[in-house]
Amino acid sequence: MNTLGNFINGQNMASTSSEFAAVYNPATGEQTAQVSLSTVAETEHAIEVAQTAYESWKKVTPLNRSRVMFKFKELLEANKTSIAEAITSEHGKVFSDALGELTRGIEVVEFACGIPHLVKGEHSLNVGRGVDSHSLMQPLGVCAGIAPFNFPAMVPMWMFPIAIAAGNTFVLKPSEKDPTVPLMLAKLLKEAGLPDGVFNVVNGDKTSVDVLLTDERVQAVSFVGSTPIAEYIYETASKSGKRVQALGGAKNHMIVMPDADPSQVVQSLMGAAYGSAGERCMAISVAVCVGDAVADKLIGMMQNEIGQMRVGPGMGLEQEAHMGPLISKEHAAKVKSYIDSGVEQGATLVEDGRVFVCDGNENGYFIGPTLFDNVKPGMRIYDEEIFGPVLAVVRVDTYEEAVALINDHEYGNGTSIFTRDGDTARQFSEEIQVGMVGINVPIPVPMAFHSFGGWKRSLFGPLHMHGQDGVRFYTRMKAITARWPSGIRTGNEFTMPTMK
Ligand code: NAD
Repeated sequence: MNTLGNFINGQNMASTSSEFAAVYNPATGEQTAQVSLSTVAETEHAIEVAQTAYESWKKVTPLNRSRVMFKFKELLEANKTSIAEAITSEHGKVFSDALGELTRGIEVVEFACGIPHLVKGEHSLNVGRGVDSHSLMQPLGVCAGIAPFNFPAMVPMWMFPIAIAAGNTFVLKPSEKDPTVPLMLAKLLKEAGLPDGVFNVVNGDKTSVDVLLTDERVQAVSFVGSTPIAEYIYETASKSGKRVQALGGAKNHMIVMPDADPSQVVQSLMGAAYGSAGERCMAISVAVCVGDAVADKLIGMMQNEIGQMRVGPGMGLEQEAHMGPLISKEHAAKVKSYIDSGVEQGATLVEDGRVFVCDGNENGYFIGPTLFDNVKPGMRIYDEEIFGPVLAVVRVDTYEEAVALINDHEYGNGTSIFTRDGDTARQFSEEIQVGMVGINVPIPVPMAFHSFGGWKRSLFGPLHMHGQDGVRFYTRMKAITARWPSGIRTGNEFTMPTMK
């Protein structure tokens, strides 16, 4: 059995822990490896190494830090097939989707290559006579990242490229469900010329996370995962005086207006609801149809499309599947129990994914695409995040009812509206209480040079990930006000200095 350990101070290190988590191939149900769940001492050691490396890394010029990022990007491109294969084999998403995930991560590396420009700060001449002011954007020190299972490459890359390029050092705690890819990234960073100790990977569970949240040497914590854990991370790390950005769960609604193009809606919705088996924080899990005619037409067309979907392993088929398995046996059982609850609570089950069996992969964690009609608030399949291939159709009579549903929901990660009316779209983008909004775009994930984050219980903390917010999160502003000796031309002053 292959045992995965840590990557500390520039090398793979076996863990001394006697606790392990099993790593599976979700398409076959076979265990492929085990990952060590690191001890408190090992996590503290990684922090210590990162603290030591910080002393010299912060002095490397931004241009030279950026050059490491350029090289890292090149290596990611050169190794993209093996990285995407590792994503598919441990997560289950189809290979082309794994490549897509990696590409979105590489885009953050590209953004981080511009770090000399991003940390330039501001300069004002003559804020008072003979007095100048400028700001410095300095690194914080050791930063920690805690990642979820659903994007083992992209989510860590939302965090560490910017943190490192800005002069910080980093300790990453990946998901214990798919730990291989972060270790591959660590190796490539070293190959790109990153000094030892600047980027470290500690595999583990709550034991390691709690050290990262409370150790006083850690200055900032970035988290992505479920809402209850995001809230815990935010509270615990804030209490220890750290900066925190903690991104949580989602329930993303798409409003379908009567004037929307039906085939465009269905094409967009299929991928947004069922891509990556619905295990995306930006997946659309609720379609809100304005008017019964819209809902009836949508359901008919969706049934047709669902009938043609290929569900299967993410690699090795002659024609690639549209959707792979779920991450684990337990998660597949949970998703099935949500479908049971939808039936019990009176929703109309139009397509039942519980009955799907993947020929040749009977032990894989597959669930077929599932479609519910007549879903209402108060039902668990509406109120809660399912994180599986289950789409709920909600029928309303007006645009206002649709907006009220979204604004009343506890999550506010992403949303979209499909309409041909610019005025409706404009009003929607202004009044909706959600962090990322799509106009005829089903999954409005901001590009690397913009920032990613939700509202309400989808994000704890003021700053979003990557883009300008990412740079602000990983730097501390210092304002310098300077007057040179020749500028002092009067005696002592005892009044508040004002512009003269
Ligand atoms: P999770 O919350 O179970 O785990 C996330 C991380 O937290 C993992 O590294 C895990 O080891 C750690 N963790 C788990 N329990 C912990 C505890 N009690 N104490 C300390 N650490 C703990 O999430 P997941 O199942 O890996 O990922 C799926 C969730 O992530 C979904 O809710 C999804 O919406 C969310 N997600 C959100 C975004 C976003 O941008 N908002 C992006 C991706 C995923």
